[in-house]
Amino acid sequence: MKHIDTLIKDSEELKKQREQIVVDLLSNEAIKKFIMQEKLSTDLIKEYPMHFLKLKNQLTICTACKGLAECKLPNKGHIQSLKFDQILSYAFKPCRYQLQYDIEYQHLKKYRINDLSDETKKVLISDVDIDKESNAKYLKAISAIAEWLDKPSDKGFYLYGDVGVGKTYLAACIANQFAMDGKSVAFIHMPSFLVKLKEAFYDDREQERLKNIAKNVDLLVMDDIGAETVTSWYRDEVLLPILNERMDQKRCTVFTSNLSLKILEANFRYNQKGEVDEMKAVRIMERIKMLANPLEIEGKNRRIRL
Ligand code: ADP
Ligand code: MG
Repeated sequence: MKHIDTLIKDSEELKKQREQIVVDLLSNEAIKKFIMQEKLSTDLIKEYPMHFLKLKNQLTICTACKGLAECKLPNKGHIQSLKFDQILSYAFKPCRYQLQYDIEYQHLKKYRINDLSDETKKVLISDVDIDKESNAKYLKAISAIAEWLDKPSDKGFYLYGDVGVGKTYLAACIANQFAMDGKSVAFIHMPSFLVKLKEAFYDDREQERLKNIAKNVDLLVMDDIGAETVTSWYRDEVLLPILNERMDQKRCTVFTSNLSLKILEANFRYNQKGEVDEMKAVRIMERIKMLANPLEIEGKNRRIRL
């Protein structure tokens, strides 16, 4: 057992440490600014030094931070701040970068499924640098899309062409425009969608939820259709009902594919067992052709940066 003198000494030591923390906090610029902004009394620092110490440590991290990508806070983009309402308590608040992100990327809230890459999350058709573009067919495609976006009909586009020419990018431009106009959007990378559906194979409700999103959003982008492995189940029970519903409800659909419509049809002819079903492929293709006008995208492979 500790001697009583040692205990008194320890508690005096602690008291001194606590007082020093309070002195440091009171002179800390970030804390002074916080107290002023939140219209709090400095007495709270004396009352809750450990709360303010934690806040000071987080504000120090935040001051040195250069952007969300390098955020070192435990809860990315959110500082564990303080709020006073009779008592002082913790409250998560978005940092300056998170606030800016929330404004810039507000349209992403309209995405019900979002398989966009980070670099295409806010691209728009007006961002496409046409001055640097010399490919006449690409320029024609851009103006066809821009014109359509001015007054979208329910017949979307089947964007096809070689790998890397920018089909997914253009589909992202269309999707972001719809989202910014307040429309609901699903941007679905088809091979990943199939994986998700298979993972939910024994979960009917999750499968239905995913299919219903694809059926009902104002704009559906089926990205990279034809790159997935075709099974009878996928073709006849997933794809066909989605396309049917979208056709019946006159909802906009955009496809991207490395395959022309003709080759895509051949792709849908076979199931996983290699069995041929001409009619089922024809049925799928009829719907795709009803939903979208083919638009070939030509140009250099933009993935190869010289
Ligand atoms: P595809 O879907 O035809 O295979 P992507 O759309 O993925 O090609 O484009 C390949 C790369 O080039 C991506 O990194 C994409 O962001 C970029 N890219 C495509 N089009 C443009 C463009 N108009 N301006 C700038 N970057 C682009
Ligand atoms: Mg693509």
